[in-house]
Amino acid sequence: MEKSLKEQYHLTDEQIDAATRFIDLKTRSVLYIVKSASDPDTEYKVTWNRDFNRFQCQCKAASQYGMSCWHTRSAFVNELLYRQAKRDEAEAAKRIAEEQAEYERLMMVPRRSRARQRCSAISSASPRSHSTYFANH
Ligand SMILES: [Zn+2]
Repeated sequence: MEKSLKEQYHLTDEQIDAATRFIDLKTRSVLYIVKSASDPDTEYKVTWNRDFNRFQCQCKAASQYGMSCWHTRSAFVNELLYRQAKRDEAEAAKRIAEEQAEYERLMMVPRRSRARQRCSAISSASPRSHSTYFANH
C-alpha cells in the first residue's frame, strides 16, 4: 500500500519521512511541517485548505507559481497513511474486543458443564442417597 502510494505520488521514503503531522488548535485543522530537502534549516508549512478541499504549501514553487510541490504530495500521502493507520487501529481494537468476548464465551462453557458433572457425581455417590434407598425398601 505504502509502495503504491509512493509510486503514485512520485515520492521517496525521505520525502515521506520529512513531513510531520500537527493539528492547528485555532482552526482545528490538520497541517504538516515538511523539511526542505535542499536546506535542512528550512521547513515548509502545508495547511489544509477547507475551501478548496486540498493541501496548500507556502513554498515558492507552490505559492508563487502554483506548482504541485512534493511537500504537498508528501503531506497528502502522510494523511492517507495516517487515516489508514487509524482505521487499522480501530479494526484491531474491535477484533481484540471480539476475540476477548469469544474467549470469555469459550471459558464459560467448560466451567459450567464441569460444575454440572460434579453435581451429578456427588448426588449419585452420596452415601445419604444409598441410605435413603435402603430406608425406603
Ligand atoms: Zn511546497
